Amino acid sequence: MQVHLFLKIGGVHLRPFLQVLFLMPALLGFLQGTAQGDDILRAEYFPKSVKQGDGCLVRVWGPSFKSIHGEVQGQRFPMAPRTEEGAYQGLIGIGMNTRPATYEIKIVATSGDGRVFSKVLLLKVAKANFGTEKLSLPPGMVDLDGKALERVHNEAGRLKALFQIDRDERLWKGAFISPVEGKLSSTFGLGRVINGQRKSPHTGVDLEAREGTPVMASNHGVAVLVDSLFFSGNSVILDHGWGFFSMYFHLSQALVKEGERVPAGAMLGRVGSTGRSTGPHLHWGVRIRETHVDPLSVLRLDGYLRE
Ligand SMILES: [Zn+2]
Repeated sequence: MQVHLFLKIGGVHLRPFLQVLFLMPALLGFLQGTAQGDDILRAEYFPKSVKQGDGCLVRVWGPSFKSIHGEVQGQRFPMAPRTEEGAYQGLIGIGMNTRPATYEIKIVATSGDGRVFSKVLLLKVAKANFGTEKLSLPPGMVDLDGKALERVHNEAGRLKALFQIDRDERLWKGAFISPVEGKLSSTFGLGRVINGQRKSPHTGVDLEAREGTPVMASNHGVAVLVDSLFFSGNSVILDHGWGFFSMYFHLSQALVKEGERVPAGAMLGRVGSTGRSTGPHLHWGVRIRETHVDPLSVLRLDGYLRE
């Protein structure tokens, strides 16, 4: 089996599908001749067992190609250049609402002399059990007045526009790291009933840590948002390229500027409890294009992403 992966971070809304990153240009090769590849390409995906909400790495081995990309659910995603061990790799995000089923991931590669190779990898997505929690929050943070609603609406629009950016440069490199040493206090995908009202599920993980604990960049990236937002408080969003974003919410303070390039492990700010929060913690989100994925699933790719 073969797979290409690509990860996304962050966000707010969920899409039912495998959302794939970057769309890249055309499949000219299919018009030129018969695609082949079963004996030339070898592909795999990681983790071996994929469930709803996972980030998934697709890796392909073969000779040196002029171009290579993956396709899933009609969307293209880019593959990174060969790693030292001679593989191409890409990341895809499996939405928390993706129907458990088997999906086709197609890999298309073109050699220097124009021959096209393709291979289909079957990706089996299992159901995840996300669970539900009940929370009580001050009514002012739940039943929003007109002014607050307008602010939330504007901020949602800004975030949506931000996540449309497809930086045609892969900044992420190697394994992702946890941004803070903290206790996992709320998991990804958790359904939430706040003051008796069902709200959208949790799109990241909450890591409980003392106020002021340093928060680090989980990989190389560019700070594309540094601001105070209604729900997420003092927030930093990093663009890691190829549609992969990570976000860091409820900070007591941010220590980077918008537009600043940061290396993995750089200090982005400090843990706080700003925005809609009941105590000091970091909300850490990961988004691959339109898909929020479980940041912990990205951490688990550690051994496969190390370069
Ligand atoms: Zn959270």
